[in-house]
Amino acid sequence: MTHLCVPIFVNDLAEARRDIALAAEGGADFVELRIDRFTNHDAVVELLRQSPLPRIVTCRPKWEGGYSELPESERLSVLANAAQSGATYIDVELETYRRHQVIAEMTHKTPRERRPGLIVSSHHFLRTRPPNLLALFEELSNSEGDINKIVWNPLTIRDNLEAFELLQHRGKPTIALCMGEAGILSRILAKKFGAFLTFASLTSAGATAPGQVTIADMKRLYRWDAIGKETKVYGVVGSPVAHSMSPALHNAAFDQSAFNGIYVPLLVNEGYESFKAFMETFVPFDGLHLSGLSVTIPHKENALRYLQEKGAEVEPLALSIGALNTIVVDRSQGTVNLRGFSSDYAAILDSITSALGISRENLAEYRVAVIGAGGTGRTAVAALAHCGATVVVYNRTFDRAAALALEFNGKSGKVVAAKMEKLCDSCCQIYLNTTSVGMHPNVNASPMGDALPKWTSDTLVFDTVYNPMRTKLLEQAQAAGAKTIGGIEMFVRQAAAQFEAWTGKPAPVETMRKVVEQKLK
Ligand code: NAP
Repeated sequence: MTHLCVPIFVNDLAEARRDIALAAEGGADFVELRIDRFTNHDAVVELLRQSPLPRIVTCRPKWEGGYSELPESERLSVLANAAQSGATYIDVELETYRRHQVIAEMTHKTPRERRPGLIVSSHHFLRTRPPNLLALFEELSNSEGDINKIVWNPLTIRDNLEAFELLQHRGKPTIALCMGEAGILSRILAKKFGAFLTFASLTSAGATAPGQVTIADMKRLYRWDAIGKETKVYGVVGSPVAHSMSPALHNAAFDQSAFNGIYVPLLVNEGYESFKAFMETFVPFDGLHLSGLSVTIPHKENALRYLQEKGAEVEPLALSIGALNTIVVDRSQGTVNLRGFSSDYAAILDSITSALGISRENLAEYRVAVIGAGGTGRTAVAALAHCGATVVVYNRTFDRAAALALEFNGKSGKVVAAKMEKLCDSCCQIYLNTTSVGMHPNVNASPMGDALPKWTSDTLVFDTVYNPMRTKLLEQAQAAGAKTIGGIEMFVRQAAAQFEAWTGKPAPVETMRKVVEQKLK
């Protein structure tokens, strides 16, 4: 069993008591009392006696990233007192253990029924894997400690795999974690790899190490109780990814469908080589069961290039767009097969056809203004042209619009470029905004300017911006009596297509929509 442990900095007795109660209520099955700055023996004893949860006691010195400035002999005596007063485990740094073999004796001298276990730990805050990681781990493993703990600040996301390898090769219970945004994976998947415990903070402000997830997020957002050895792993690859809504959306969908999967943020540094290194190490990693990826900025083109280089199956439309946002890692035939496609493409088309009650073929009768010629604009132009629509591309930088028109004109619809100043309210039946104009925080901007466009109930206005949910453009459209589609529609549809490709199950679209709406509210 992997424990979920809430670390609590003890500064005040009443506060610490409250935090322990909140940790228990939140679903923790362990607490770590950090008494670096609070060494009042009687108060610590009281806390230890009253705690409803098993408790680790740590008095981390400054030289190991903690706060204790006590002389070593005093710090050790504080720990010895805790060891004799009801601590379940005492945590001592490897360096302390090296200097004072007495620590082991100290815990073993306590009467057997009250004897705490010993965690021997090693922390590395410099942003790099400790060069002697394996030697350190061996030293920990050969110590008299009952539990190994090793924590470092990863240079790249690949360090998480080393943490998993340590867990896979442990000779005794082990905690192996990476810090920071790139290390979140090691915290969430600790249970999958059989760690002794993972840490989760009570609140974001209460984290004792960078990258700690709150216990509420660990339990609900990251499906702690559902994770097991066989759980399939999915995630969003990008940089940055910390604020992505995709984990909330997909994990809620997995929950709703009782699917044994977990979806995590995967911070992969910019550049093709980083993306490639990620794929080459994560896809084959034994025991990870990486089964699908959402791909976001800046890796959509890298993902396509990688799959092409590997000779993997790529949807022809993703090839014509030049980017993809979904990878399926199919392990069903005993080998690993990669497949890539763009779920944005179908999401754009399906949002439009369902709002108009038409089929994709009917789009050939429509004239569409695509505003913007970036990644989303490109996907929209490729999709609409493929269905035979007549497309006018408007873009602030005209050359980009012209290049898009040149590329997609005649495949099979007609595509022309126009200057942004020429954008009017009567030239098309469908207006599709793919620029970031109107996006939070610039919520008072609209690609149509401030005047109320003369649209009618025959006009469809689709804003791909989803934050805010009701953009100024959509408000203008509503006031003019036009039909509207918000960016959430596209966001949910593209995620639903990913879910279905990964799981083979129908996506719980309403659950997904609710999650996004709640997040945005
Ligand atoms: P992108 O590749 O960076 O393209 C940005 C586009 O916006 C370019 O056409 C750019 O014009 C234009 N633009 C930016 N600032 C502008 C301004 N102040 N005035 C006029 N035009 C401006 O970005 P992207 O990935 O395509 O994303 C664009 C938008 O699509 C985002 O805001 C996002 O909300 C939305 N989106 C929605 C979904 C969804 O699921 N709903 C998915 C993806 C994206 P220039 O060429 O002149 O720079």
